Amino acid sequence: MNTKKFALADEAATVLIGTKLANLCSKQTTIYLHGDLGAGKTTFSRGFIQSQGHQGNVKSPTYTLVEPYQLKQWNIYHFDLYRLADPEELEFMGIRDYFSDDAICLVEWPEKGEGVLPAADLDIDLRYAGEAREITFTANSEYGNQLISQLELN
Ligand code: ADP
Ligand code: MG
Repeated sequence: MNTKKFALADEAATVLIGTKLANLCSKQTTIYLHGDLGAGKTTFSRGFIQSQGHQGNVKSPTYTLVEPYQLKQWNIYHFDLYRLADPEELEFMGIRDYFSDDAICLVEWPEKGEGVLPAADLDIDLRYAGEAREITFTANSEYGNQLISQLELN
């Protein structure tokens, strides 16, 4: 099995699935988040990041491109590449340093960094489903496969 889909009835469900995935991560992990503006990429990231001990707000780092969170177990780097003009800018940022052994990278708008961004273990697609949302996980590595096979919403 390399894909899994869940219906997310409300914002709390989006936060919860982010929490569940975070709690399964056991090593360096790269996660791409796809979906239209307002689909829930940052909401998912907030659940993920706060579950690992961050107590403040989580906002899309639209202008700074990346927000680092130094947490107990992990360094989490939350990227939002929406405003990235050229993937080469990622080289100037020293992108490779972020994808280190103790790091989890969550990347919104990874399409903008294509060709430079390291490959993802998991692709996540968030979609509107009426007022609610639907989330699809696709694994791109054996580790990604393990993560989604253990992932449940409840
Ligand atoms: P993105 O980062 O994809 O642009 P955000 O997470 O910033 O999206 O915003 C998503 C919006 O949708 C927020 O207003 C949030 O409250 C809402 N939302 C998140 N998940 C759901 C859901 N499952 N059902 C309904 N609304 C949701
Ligand atoms: Mg966002």
